[in-house]
Amino acid sequence: MDDRWLTESRPWHGLSALRAGLGHVTCLTLPEPSLLPQALDWCRGRGLRPWPLGGGTNLVGSDRPDAGLAALRLAPPADVPVPEASGRLTVSVGMALGRLVARTAQRGWGGLAALSGIPGTLGGALAMNAGALGREMADAVEAMAGLEVRDGSPWRWRRGDGGWGYRRSPVPDGVMLTEATLQLWPVEAAAEASAIAAERARRVRVTPRGRSCGSVFRNPPGESAGRLLEAAGCKGLTAGVFAVSEEHANWVVNRSGAPGRASDCLWLLSEMRRRVRDLCGVELQPEWRLADSEMLLGVD
Ligand SMILES: Cc1cc2nc3c(=O)[nH]c(=O)nc-3n(C[C@H](O)[C@H](O)[C@H](O)COP(=O)(O)OP(=O)(O)OC[C@H]3O[C@@H](n4cnc5c(N)ncnc54)[C@H](O)[C@@H]3O)c2cc1C
Repeated sequence: MDDRWLTESRPWHGLSALRAGLGHVTCLTLPEPSLLPQALDWCRGRGLRPWPLGGGTNLVGSDRPDAGLAALRLAPPADVPVPEASGRLTVSVGMALGRLVARTAQRGWGGLAALSGIPGTLGGALAMNAGALGREMADAVEAMAGLEVRDGSPWRWRRGDGGWGYRRSPVPDGVMLTEATLQLWPVEAAAEASAIAAERARRVRVTPRGRSCGSVFRNPPGESAGRLLEAAGCKGLTAGVFAVSEEHANWVVNRSGAPGRASDCLWLLSEMRRRVRDLCGVELQPEWRLADSEMLLGVD
């Protein structure tokens, strides 16, 4: 055990915004990115496969008592660094995205107000290419750095390397990001603060009530997954504590807030997908990330 980072056995449901996953995982919280090489060694020495974790807002955990994984996450830095005069900002990806957007806006830098209400960390947002209202993380990223979890070798990406798409990121599975450089735009602080407040208020109005992990599926090209799922009669489907929201058919909520089985989430995901396939032949692709990817093997 290394006392420079926090090591705990945690139930997966305690790491998932949806509270999904009844198994346990070793969870390492690193106070700073420079400790990542030692933490990876620590995992290798114990035969644990490192799994990069952000805020868990897109995460369905595992039910297995021991899936052989170690969830690795970076603690949020104390404050957002001041951007350079050019608007460039290099920051640890453990930073919460909403805080990053709000704090830089106070200093007269912005362009990311549309993303201000997306929960989770900068690392998760980069790995997912999170987006809203036509804006996405890819718009602002200049460079990213991290380590290959397999052997600790460095991984780098620079603007020009490409690899972004709709909810698609150049960050491969098996890389843990540590920091990113963003290019921000000069803005008027008060106007940007109003735009952020308006976006947060909009989200309160449109987000279905209850704990969730956001949209279950990506939108297929030119279509809305929510519209197809509603037409396929998915609203109100239930499995254990989870249900497809009556307010939004592409949204699964935890009905009671109690911990629930990841396998119930998987059953819902599979049933929603089957119904849309039977209705119109479209094969929906999940946006959720599953800690235990082998669980997906059972999903047709
Ligand atoms: C209420 C609600 C609203 C949402 N609205 C939106 C929305 O409008 N748009 C949108 O795109 N998403 C939305 N989401 C989904 C989710 O918030 C985003 O995908 C978010 O960016 C995930 O960030 P996270 O830190 O929680 O990542 P996690 O859920 O912890 O992880 C997500 C993925 O990122 C990887 N990851 C995390 N950190 C790192 C790292 N340091 N290095 C490498 N990989 C990493 C994980 O391995 C995992 O594969 C919403 C979710 C909720 C609950």
